[in-house]
Amino acid sequence: MQRVLQRSSRRRKPAKSRRKYSTYCQYEFCCIKGQKCDYTHTEEQKVFFKANGGKGRRGYKSKPCQFFHNKGDCKHGRSKAMNCAYYHSEEEARCYVCKNSDLEYIGHASHDHEDQ
Ligand SMILES: [Zn+2]
Ligand SMILES: [Zn+2]
Ligand SMILES: [Zn+2]
Repeated sequence: MQRVLQRSSRRRKPAKSRRKYSTYCQYEFCCIKGQKCDYTHTEEQKVFFKANGGKGRRGYKSKPCQFFHNKGDCKHGRSKAMNCAYYHSEEEARCYVCKNSDLEYIGHASHDHEDQ
């Protein structure tokens, strides 16, 4: 395999490889690049990407799962709720309004802020 370097820019940026960055991806489960992301994702996130067509979902766990709440059943099941982009229980809910650097489960969802 021959590597062809594009010479469109004169300035040479160092380290322009496609290597994975060692830092964790700030988008976590929301990363739309998912499995193709250059940043590091946790094993949990990779499992989620795999279950969702290789990509993350924006607003991960910020809305209730309609299947689970209306029918009591979701294709991702109860035990694999983590693989569902929506939350099954309030404890899973994430808020992107209160988002902090390491986006923990904080037990309420983004839409809770809209009620005011
Ligand atoms: Zn990413
Ligand atoms: Zn679900
Ligand atoms: Zn909040």
